Amino acid sequence: MKTIIEPFRIKSVEPIRQTTPGERQRFLEAAGYNLFQIRACDILIDLLTDSGTSAMSTGQWAAMMRGDESYAGSDSFYRLKQAVQDLTGFRHVIPAHQGRAAERILFTVMCKPGSVVPNNTHFDTTRANIEYRGARAVDLPLPEARDTQLQLPFKGNMDVAALEALIAEEGPRNMPLVMVTVTNNSGGGQPVSMANIEAIREVTRRHGIPFYIDACRFAENAWFIREREPGYAGWSPRQIAQKMFSLADGCTFSAKKDAFANIGGLLCTRDDRLAEQEKDLLILTEGFPTYGGLAGRDLEAIAVGLEEVLDPDYLQYRIASTAYLGRHIADHGVPIVEPPGGHAIYIDAGRMLPHIPANQFPGQSLAIELYRHAGVRSVEIGSVMFGENARHQLLRLAIPRRVYTQSHIDYLVEAILEIDERKESLRGFEIVTQPEFLRHFTATFRPVDKN
Ligand SMILES: *Cc1c(COP(=O)(O)O)cnc(C)c1O
Repeated sequence: MKTIIEPFRIKSVEPIRQTTPGERQRFLEAAGYNLFQIRACDILIDLLTDSGTSAMSTGQWAAMMRGDESYAGSDSFYRLKQAVQDLTGFRHVIPAHQGRAAERILFTVMCKPGSVVPNNTHFDTTRANIEYRGARAVDLPLPEARDTQLQLPFKGNMDVAALEALIAEEGPRNMPLVMVTVTNNSGGGQPVSMANIEAIREVTRRHGIPFYIDACRFAENAWFIREREPGYAGWSPRQIAQKMFSLADGCTFSAKKDAFANIGGLLCTRDDRLAEQEKDLLILTEGFPTYGGLAGRDLEAIAVGLEEVLDPDYLQYRIASTAYLGRHIADHGVPIVEPPGGHAIYIDAGRMLPHIPANQFPGQSLAIELYRHAGVRSVEIGSVMFGENARHQLLRLAIPRRVYTQSHIDYLVEAILEIDERKESLRGFEIVTQPEFLRHFTATFRPVDKN
């Protein structure tokens, strides 16, 4: 049957609030046209992020009740460690309050000023943490992936020839680690193939460079491998994920994505000496290594979430639901990053709104209009977020896990198609104020005058 049904039923509901377009215009003005500055209660459908916004299961809530809040040696930590080791095989499992805390610790220990860190595409916090350390973050996506309209099964792959060239240019000693992000979030939520991960492993092994996975969406990536990569159709998502991790020396992980947790992160490694340094730093800013800035109950939620996310019924529904949104707008003429990714649909706002130049932020303009028109919050991934490094002007519609139903998705499709009918009326924006780092969170904007 074709109808997508959620593989769960609802036990507890959370009301969402309708507002009028006039009210929303006032909220926009008060927020400096920055959707991060709008109160969540003034939003109908919140697609700002899939991070920390998952609905937890009865299994997770039940596990939270047995959270062991001991400062040192909590049982909850040992349960989490076991779950992570069964999945990843990494010897050291270091909890942190979220993914970026794991990143900061990793790069503080491994990088020095002048170091170069390649990635298929760095996520914004990853890039910021590397640059804050005085090191250089280099994106090495496939050259073909620049074309948002091109259909490729593994468009998130790293350009391994470019990695070889970069190593030759910089020297392996200047490269403390190579990372690959699965799925490639900033590259459109596109998957990375097992063959690509194996190729990166081969190159890094040859040059003696540690290889880390930014594993935020490891389960979604595993599902794409099973669906698209020859030889994996008979594998379980867990077996595929285990193989991915077996190829790496360590990982960073935000439990706010594919662990259905509302908070949490992990830093894993096979290296005993690094782990000691990382734990020393952890104690300074996060907490003792058996809780890492989290409550025992959070550790429990992550441990259970890591099991649930690999359920084939869940992953099939998850990927089908995202593709449904993508196909229904793209087949009516709204350009998206093709093919639909795992956790989000990215509208190519630069292509949809060619009358708005990149320095007037077409993605921001579309985000603002989608909120004003339908109460939907989304996020610009373009020149607001990445400045001059932006490859595209995208609008990301990130789908929280297990939260919205198919009728929410149908409402969203209708809203986007209505805006598309009158897209020529949308205007550009300019920045009024901005901070030094990660400006998209707090910058304020104003519409550019017509003429
Ligand atoms: C979310 C994310 C991070 C950072 O994790 P936080 O928990 O938000 O700090 C890092 N990398 C990728 C690819 C992400 O999606």
